[in-house]
Amino acid sequence: MNYYSINKVSPTVDFKTATINGLAPDKGLYFPEYIPTWSKDFINNLSQLDKATIGFEIMRPYVGNTIPDNVLMEIMRETLAFDFPLTKIDDNTYCLELFHGPTLAFKDLGARFLSRCIGYFAREKNEKIIILVATSGDTGGAVADGFYNVPGTEVIILYPSGKVSEVQEKQLTALGGNIHALEVEGDFDDCQRLVKMAFADSELHNYGMLTSANSINISRWLSQQVYYALAIAQWKEKSAPVISVPSGNFGNICAGLVAQRSGLPVKQFIAACNTNDVFSRYIETGVYNPLDSVQTISNAMDVGNPSNFIRILELFNGDYQLIKKHIASYSFSDEETAAIIANLYKKNHILLDPHTAVAYAAMNAWQNEHQHDKGIILGTAHPLKFAPVVEKIINQKVAMPKKMAELMKKTKKSTLIQPNYSIAKQEIINILVNSN
Ligand SMILES: *Cc1c(COP(=O)(O)O)cnc(C)c1O
Repeated sequence: MNYYSINKVSPTVDFKTATINGLAPDKGLYFPEYIPTWSKDFINNLSQLDKATIGFEIMRPYVGNTIPDNVLMEIMRETLAFDFPLTKIDDNTYCLELFHGPTLAFKDLGARFLSRCIGYFAREKNEKIIILVATSGDTGGAVADGFYNVPGTEVIILYPSGKVSEVQEKQLTALGGNIHALEVEGDFDDCQRLVKMAFADSELHNYGMLTSANSINISRWLSQQVYYALAIAQWKEKSAPVISVPSGNFGNICAGLVAQRSGLPVKQFIAACNTNDVFSRYIETGVYNPLDSVQTISNAMDVGNPSNFIRILELFNGDYQLIKKHIASYSFSDEETAAIIANLYKKNHILLDPHTAVAYAAMNAWQNEHQHDKGIILGTAHPLKFAPVVEKIINQKVAMPKKMAELMKKTKKSTLIQPNYSIAKQEIINILVNSN
């Protein structure tokens, strides 16, 4: 399998180069040359297969010969070393819980897969690999955890100051070692812009191989297909499910759309958004109008110009009608999200985190118009990860999981910077020089 840049200027590359490059030299996102078709046997037998085999079968065509089969299988075993249960929310809706990994959010899977692939490539190349990542909260924590102590790697995380939760901030800033945090006085879009500029800066490439760990990286993006296969593996209903995905940068849902193209039975996708509703309005009007992001209680979805929108266009050849047919989209205010959390807790004693609650709200909206549809919402974060927000909503204290309580005792270490490229660049160089 080769990957081309969506900007069509840079040459096509294999999985290894696309993973290490992150972004193509022409600043385009990479896209696979073709979407593999999964065999009927594989799809029909998903419930019989173990997680690592499912992951291996899905990723093998994408990885090609850049990682030997036995190494890829081991990477998959390590990546998927926690549970992904499908639990009942109400009569028509289930939740695929993607938050049982080390940082209690769904990005653990993609980040663990990526870090282990990069770790393999760094050993093979015997060269330092620098991971540069912008985060609105959860990406950074998952990446930090995934790469912590992976030999041959230095991780630099840019996050918006004051716009991530306390737990998220600790996950980004308290590990030390090969994990470094730049605290940007701006929003996520500023962080993303600075990272994009750093990649385009040839001088920085002298310090090692630069790579991104954002959802734009094909390793993270494509490995998320495994969630959807794990959902179908546990799906007992006769007809294919509607799947509602809490969406910010649209990497996760775009992976689901790729899995569907490969043959996975999904009736309909729903892109569930908070007040950052650029995509919802695109579905409604056909006009894509990126905006500055606004802050919400589901802050990992506070994205005003989703990076993966362009991949959705690519997947559907820019055909708006086709996109509209495959993806419904709804957006909800913080008040509506809070009401959903409070009601479900009162009625069924189930606690959802704010991101998952947005997906549940969207599923309810869909089911109001399609009474017989049964569906799956993706549970992208553990409710206790957002304890301060949910406690206010349900008016009750919730216990912090032990892993998190220990993390909270550690000391934050970050460098505060203005959202200015020359300042960011100097700090990045300082970190790299001092870590040698
Ligand atoms: C990142 C994140 C999202 C959004 O995922 P995208 O792939 O960026 O659309 C949703 N929920 C949580 C908890 C997240 O961390």
